[in-house]
Amino acid sequence: MEYRTLGRTGLTVSRLCFGALTIGPLQARLTPAEGGRIVQAAYEAGITFFDTADLYGTYPHLREGLRGATGEVHLASKSYAPDAAGMRDSVETALRALGREELAVFSLHEVDSAAQLRGHAGALEYLVRAKAAGLVRAIGLSTHSAEGVRAAALTPEIDVIHPLVNRAGLGVKGGLPAMREALDLAAAMGKGLYVMKPLAGGHLRGSARDSLAWALDLPGVAAVAVGMRSEAEVRFNAGLVARLAGEPDAPDEPELERLAQAVAATGRWLHIEAWCAGCGACAAACPSGALTVVEDRAVVDRERCLLCGYCGAACPEMAIKIV
Ligand code: SF4
Ligand code: SF4
Repeated sequence: MEYRTLGRTGLTVSRLCFGALTIGPLQARLTPAEGGRIVQAAYEAGITFFDTADLYGTYPHLREGLRGATGEVHLASKSYAPDAAGMRDSVETALRALGREELAVFSLHEVDSAAQLRGHAGALEYLVRAKAAGLVRAIGLSTHSAEGVRAAALTPEIDVIHPLVNRAGLGVKGGLPAMREALDLAAAMGKGLYVMKPLAGGHLRGSARDSLAWALDLPGVAAVAVGMRSEAEVRFNAGLVARLAGEPDAPDEPELERLAQAVAATGRWLHIEAWCAGCGACAAACPSGALTVVEDRAVVDRERCLLCGYCGAACPEMAIKIV
């Protein structure tokens, strides 16, 4: 596994970051023991960077999986709390639940504009105090929009940006060209960058190699966070990143193909996130008539779904994934 410095934070992280949303109650619904085994497999594959959020409900899984970790591990979490009291509660809860005295990164969760960032002034002020007190090493901001990246790039207190970006531009608010420009600005400002959704929530899984290579090559990007819900996925993604880096012990092509088949064999389905707004745009885009909106939530008929991905591209909330 290759490692990079995360901006000016002094943190050295694995280029593949384990996205923990997938193993928890919002997606695969694994128990802490089951999820912990996948986290442990990730650590054993050389992954030292783990991303979660208080919303994801995966602190017990990470704690369980990293119980035996003897080397350096960097944990990143985030909270939607806009004010100081809420953010303090989030940070203290994370530290307690994860059994840590310090977190590598704690972020403002999904802030998509300068106005939203101003609305989080209290939370940011608290994070500055938490950093001074040694509770967090770096202050971050996660965002789905080019404007959010730009706002964070121009905010001195923010050390790390966690933006949504992929080479198809799926789910990127403001569009891919604007996001590329904002990322260039962030890199020039010395921000640490680790991107989310490089495989667009599974929609680019068929071109995983090209999609991960594209994201890893973005200027200033230290790591890509990929949601993984099985040991087969961990081995495949870690092998692919090692192969892209030209590491001598990376799996060869036949082995990588075998791992890809093992991932495919774990099955794929359409997953609709809890934050679906019920707008119906996905149903209008589905060529198979597989989606309907029931009580303000999209529902998929798996018998009809062809996993074509058109609905995910149409969803303004990035609430549909193929997992
Ligand atoms: S397009 Fe997205 S937000 Fe709208 S109903 Fe479909 S899944 Fe929900
Ligand atoms: S993946 Fe394709 S077939 Fe399946 S629900 Fe979405 S648009 Fe319809």
